[in-house]
Formats: sequence, C-alpha cells, structure tokens
Amino acid sequence: MPTLNDIRSTFLTYFAKQGHEVVDSSPLVPRNDPTLMFTNAGMVQFKNLFTGVEHRDYKRAATAQKCVRAGGKHNDLDNVGYTARHHTFFEMLGNFSFGDYFKDDAIRFAWELITKEYGINRDKLLVTVYHTDDEAAEIWKKVAGFSDDRIIRIPTNDNFWMMGATGPCGPCTEIFYDHGEQHWGGPPGGPDEDGDRFVEIWNLVFMQYEQFEDGSRRELAAQSIDTGMGIERVAALLQGTNDNYATDLMRSLIMASAEATGTDPDGDGRVHHRVIADHLRSTSFLIADGVMPANDGRGYVLRRIMRRAMRHAHLLGARDPLMHQLVPALVRQMGAAYPELGRAQALIQETLQLEETRFKQTLDRGLKLLDEELEGLPEDAALPGGAAFKLYDTYGFPLDLTQDALREKGRLVDTDGFDAAMAEQKAKARAAWAGSGEAADATIWYDIAEQHGVTDFLGYDTETAEGQI
Ligand code: ATP
Ligand code: MG
Ligand code: MG
Ligand code: MG
Repeated sequence: MPTLNDIRSTFLTYFAKQGHEVVDSSPLVPRNDPTLMFTNAGMVQFKNLFTGVEHRDYKRAATAQKCVRAGGKHNDLDNVGYTARHHTFFEMLGNFSFGDYFKDDAIRFAWELITKEYGINRDKLLVTVYHTDDEAAEIWKKVAGFSDDRIIRIPTNDNFWMMGATGPCGPCTEIFYDHGEQHWGGPPGGPDEDGDRFVEIWNLVFMQYEQFEDGSRRELAAQSIDTGMGIERVAALLQGTNDNYATDLMRSLIMASAEATGTDPDGDGRVHHRVIADHLRSTSFLIADGVMPANDGRGYVLRRIMRRAMRHAHLLGARDPLMHQLVPALVRQMGAAYPELGRAQALIQETLQLEETRFKQTLDRGLKLLDEELEGLPEDAALPGGAAFKLYDTYGFPLDLTQDALREKGRLVDTDGFDAAMAEQKAKARAAWAGSGEAADATIWYDIAEQHGVTDFLGYDTETAEGQI
C-alpha cells in the first residue's frame, strides 16, 4: 500500500519524465498577491506566468503545494470534523503548462498517472466537464473509453474557472472516484453531491480564454493548463478507504493525540482527534511560514484555528497544553518533504504552548458560561448575539469557535446580534475617543471594519480583542 510520501514522489517523478520542471512548494503566505490570505492552490505561485507578465526557462512545471483553506473564498474550516475529505491544510499535487500543451495532453497525462502509475480501478472513475466543452468530452471518450453517462456535463461555475473579474479563464474537468454505495452521497451535479461517496480527486483547468472588462472573451494565444489533485484523497482511495483521516499520515497524528490524552482514537472523542490532527498541520505549517498569532489579518485566522483545536483538546480532558506535544509526530511524518517544519520546530512548539497556556485561563470559564446560557434557552433556540459577543470579548472565543461548539448540539448563533453587539461596542469606543484630541486617523480602523463587516475573515477589532490574552 503506498504511503502518502510514496504518492507524492510517484506524481513528481511521473511529470518529471514528461518534461516538467519539479518546483518547490511556495510558502503559505503568497509572495506575489497581497489580496490573498493564504496560498490555496498550486497555481498561486505561477499566476504571473499564466498572465504572461513573467517568463521562466521552463514551460511545464509540477509541484506538491502546501495549501490552507481557512478563510476567504475557499474556507473549509467548517468542513473539518464533518466530512471525510476536507482539511484546512492539505497538499495539492499539480502539473502546469504555460502556453505549452493543452487539453489533449493534460487529460492523457492525468489518465495515465491515475490508472497506470497509481493503478486506480478505472471502473470506479467518472468525470465532469463544462456543459459546452464538447472537446474535453470527446478527449475523455477517446482516452478513457468512457460512455456518455460517465462524462457529466455541469453548467455551473464549478466547472468554469476564472482568475478574477478579468484575465485568464476557462472550463475545467474534474475526476471523481466512486467509493461505493455503502457511503452516502450522489454523483456530481446532483442533489446529494455533498456526500463522501463520490469524491473529487483531481481538477484540470483549461485556461482557454481571456476575459475583458466588458464581459467579452477571446481565445488566448497561449493556452495553459493548471491542475490540482488532493494528495490526502488519493492516499485514501489507494489505501482502501474513503476517509482522509484513516490514511497513514493523518492516522499517525490521530494516534499521537490519542496517546497524549490517554483516550480512544475511535471512541466518543473521534471527532476531536480529527479536528486536532487537522489543525495541528495547518497551525504548524503557518507558523513555519512566518505567521504568528495576532488579533487581525492572517495572524487572527491562525489564532482562530489554534483556539478551536484547543477547545477540542479540552473536551478530550487534556488538562495540560496538548498541541505542542504533537509536533514531533508531525515533523516525523512531513519533515523530510518540508524541511522548514524541522527548522521551525522549536518556534512552533513554543508558540502553541504559550497560546494554549494563555487560552486555558479563560476557556474553562467561557465554556461554563456557554452552558449556562444554553440552559436558560428553549431546546432549539439560537444563542443570543450578546452572549456570543461576551464570549468573544471577555473569554477570547472567536465567533467560529462558539459556532463550532454549538453545531455539535445542533444549534446556531444569532450572528446579526453578534454583529450588532460588536458595532455597539465600537460606537462606544469611538464616542470615548471623540474628545481625546486624536487625529482623524484613529477612526480609520473602524471605517475599514465597517466596510468589511465585523465578522469578515480579515479579523475582528484589534482594540477589543487585545485585552483578553
Ligand atoms: P471540493 O469540491 O471537494 O471542496 P474543490 O473543488 O473546492 O473541492 P479545487 O479547488 O478544485 O477543490 O482543488 C483541487 C483539488 O484539491 C480537489 O480536487 C481536491 O482533491 C483537493 N482539495 C480541495 N479542497 C481540499 C480540502 N479542503 N482538503 C483536502 N483536499 C482538498
Ligand atoms: Mg471546495
Ligand atoms: Mg469541487
Ligand atoms: Mg474542484
């Protein structure tokens, strides 16, 4: 059975043989795009090559790219613990053509790799294409011998990719694996597509057009390819499971968490261990790439993930800080492929430990307050926004942590009420400031917050959050 590390090498070796330059993963903090919170796909480091702004001495590349999807357009934070196939941190395997090969070769390479190199059972595979992309459908028939019913035509943006409002864009084709009817879920494009039975493993994007401001498109002179395959999903199916968390790498992290807490990895604490294993990876890799916990921006997203993991550790009964104890297990698994992890190990451990020690001081009391609030409410009532705000403001509970806690009980938070309480506090702070003689600059922060909304992923109010830690 191939390990996750084997699967990565097979991919890179295969594409090197097909004339691709093997390029290192870029950091999780994108160097070339200040508008993007974290690197969330393999193509991010190549954006300027696709737009033609930059040229390199290779026209084909392959990478294993570190990705985080925990904020912004792609946010899988809420999926963790609930689906078998989503992580906040994952590795995306990708091959890229910069004005070199196009649809024909991209599909042929993908098919050869998954059916010959990985040996995936071709009868379990099916694909989607953009509904008007007859060309891709024809290539699939030719290359894979698929009948029409295994080439699903999708009319939505799920199968049409755009870099932004203008610039390169085009149809995509996605490869799905059917894990069998013992799992819930239906084929892509149908009503039950969100299940874990039909799992998307690989997305091939055909950068075919350029989109202009007036909405018109023309064929690109240099058509390009951008693909992304989730390594954990491939590991799952090659290891005979539909569950990413049952694969060698994730399982070893779950076992580390079970051992450190003296709990059963598959018992009542099952979900907690999964969340902890996932969040251990995203937080450690973010710290290794220079992000530190903070009250706004990227650092706040990191803090939110950390605190969320810490609540799950607490629920497992961990009385001492847990997360930092698990870092060696992660370094053992991933340190060879990502040496930055080993280099930053001491920093990661110290940061996690310090953060967990501090948060523990208010976590207990916050959870008690949460329980008390719920006791006074009817069974299915949402938690009032004021209570959620108090948890945030006094106990350092990011809103999504409270939501995560309530979701286990099938309950929601009144987010409008939360926003209103936040706005009210800001108004008060602003009023208090009015007479201080401060320059108008002091209010800029609030204006930004208002434009974006207080619960926007860019972070909460620096001032109000500062006091808690
Ligand atoms: P999904 O529909 O399953 O959320 P996606 O369409 O959002 O996936 P893409 O943006 O197409 O994903 O990314 C390319 C590949 O990366 C996917 O085909 C999948 O294998 C993998 N992938 C995407 N998101 C995650 C995630 N959160 N965790 C693990 N793998 C992921
Ligand atoms: Mg997604
Ligand atoms: Mg998808
Ligand atoms: Mg996709």
